[in-house]
Amino acid sequence: MSLRCWPYLVAFTLFVLLVPLAPGAPRGGASERMFAVAVDGRRVGVVSMSQVEGLERFLEHRVRMWSVRAGRQVRVGQSVRLFPLSSSAALQELPSLSATVAALRTALTPVTAGAAIVVDGKAVVVVADRATAASLLEGIERDYRARVEEEVRRQRGRVSEFTFEGLSIAQRVEIREGLFRAEDVRSADAATRILLRGTDKLITHTVSRGESLWSIAASHRLTVDSLRKANPDLKNPDLLQVGQKLNLLVPEPYLTLVSTERVVFTQVIPFTTRVVYDDGLWPWERAIRQPGVPGEKLVTLVTARENGGVKSTQVLAEKILRAPTVQVVAQGSRPIPSRGTGRLTWPLVGSVTSLYGRRGREFHPGVDIAAPIGTPVVAADSGVVISSGWLGQYGQAILVDHGGGKVVTLYAHLSRRLLNVGDRVDKGQVLGYVGNTGRSTGPHLHFEVRIDGKTVDPIQLFRQQAE
Ligand SMILES: [Zn+2]
Repeated sequence: MSLRCWPYLVAFTLFVLLVPLAPGAPRGGASERMFAVAVDGRRVGVVSMSQVEGLERFLEHRVRMWSVRAGRQVRVGQSVRLFPLSSSAALQELPSLSATVAALRTALTPVTAGAAIVVDGKAVVVVADRATAASLLEGIERDYRARVEEEVRRQRGRVSEFTFEGLSIAQRVEIREGLFRAEDVRSADAATRILLRGTDKLITHTVSRGESLWSIAASHRLTVDSLRKANPDLKNPDLLQVGQKLNLLVPEPYLTLVSTERVVFTQVIPFTTRVVYDDGLWPWERAIRQPGVPGEKLVTLVTARENGGVKSTQVLAEKILRAPTVQVVAQGSRPIPSRGTGRLTWPLVGSVTSLYGRRGREFHPGVDIAAPIGTPVVAADSGVVISSGWLGQYGQAILVDHGGGKVVTLYAHLSRRLLNVGDRVDKGQVLGYVGNTGRSTGPHLHFEVRIDGKTVDPIQLFRQQAE
């Protein structure tokens, strides 16, 4: 944006340099005085003595109209002067008020007194006056304080102390009064938006069904990164709501607010869990032997920010108010009685994190058993491998047929498979290792049992076997 700034006052000046008329000289006709009209020294027309009044009326009317339109007192930005023409020059020119007025309409522009906010020497925006500029700058700092404090309180929960240790604008900001083009004068709100976003334009996109940050960025020729920058308040960009409004313009602020705040808050210390194995419990069973209780600590944190974004954080002090206790969990490790083939053995000792059956809107066709990546997985019974490889959401998976297709077991999300289609496998033989492949949110084995092509609850099956 460029602003034409008049550092010195150019008042509406209509210099009429009248040469005294000779006494008794006849008025009108060829003997009438003629004047050249000049705008900033450039000649734009010729008027006669009797047209001067009409010219003055035009200029007064023009200024009044501009002032009404701008809602404030406006002046002509140029100097308008009349120069008398010598009688010989006057004879060769035809005076025309209408031609002169037409030329003035395009040559003259309105200016008004205002105050520019100058950032590092560059006039960025103009407002009505110094007081407006000063209160707008104060408002920017006040809003910044409020916004940062609100965010910290929401994020930290129990805040017992909050203080700004410093808040300043990184740029050199001055207020400069002068005359400016009337159309450049902004409201305080528009000026604030320009200082903080680089523009007062607002282009938004309303999210419709099925859209993602990626598809919205692509359809507006933006990168996902710039779309994120344009929407810094977006908490979870993966969860867009239908009807939500996104900014499409990346802010390029003229001002950088630099702050440091000190906050004291109470933080929960989560308890840790210790697992003990218990051969009195079945492998799919888990029992809390001693419940864990979270602790609490008082944290003093100093955070440096730029335009609200965290630049650095430093923990000044931590005081433990209450230490957490360890939770002790018993994990079942009782061997499944194995009375020959037809009885399944448990494929992996680990905690069952998801049972067979309904899981929200989905149906979970097996059990999930969590264990570190690389933990061996064994075949639940003897049989023949009928599938080994990548199996869509199951990732790396192996299917074992335990007899004519009647009973089939499936081992999914493996990190490594040791057997191929057609391989014979014995009950308890290692067939692969726990992994996190396919649609999986952490290392675990997804174990399925299918009887006559239908999945059954493996734990029910094992319970019946164990009786
Ligand atoms: Zn699963």
